[in-house]
Amino acid sequence: MEQTVQELKQLMREMMLEIGELKERIIYLEREVARRETPPATTSREKIQIQGESYEGIGRIYSEGYHICPFEYGQPRNEDCLFCIALMEKG
Ligand SMILES: [Zn+2]
Repeated sequence: MEQTVQELKQLMREMMLEIGELKERIIYLEREVARRETPPATTSREKIQIQGESYEGIGRIYSEGYHICPFEYGQPRNEDCLFCIALMEKG
């Protein structure tokens, strides 16, 4: 029993570390997204702020058929993109 508890604690520690790494990664990806320019379809009248408040905005870009993920940001999207979806869910 004692052994099992120790093992669980060890597992927990490893998971916490992994979660920490994932968080850092998400923050990095968010920064990457924020650094990119707005997609070509967006007019200057309707400039979208990606930093801060507007996850709503990138959700809209996505639903209009463009990538919001750092890999293909602003590119036309033919099918659902897991990276984009992950970003939106995060927000
Ligand atoms: Zn994408």
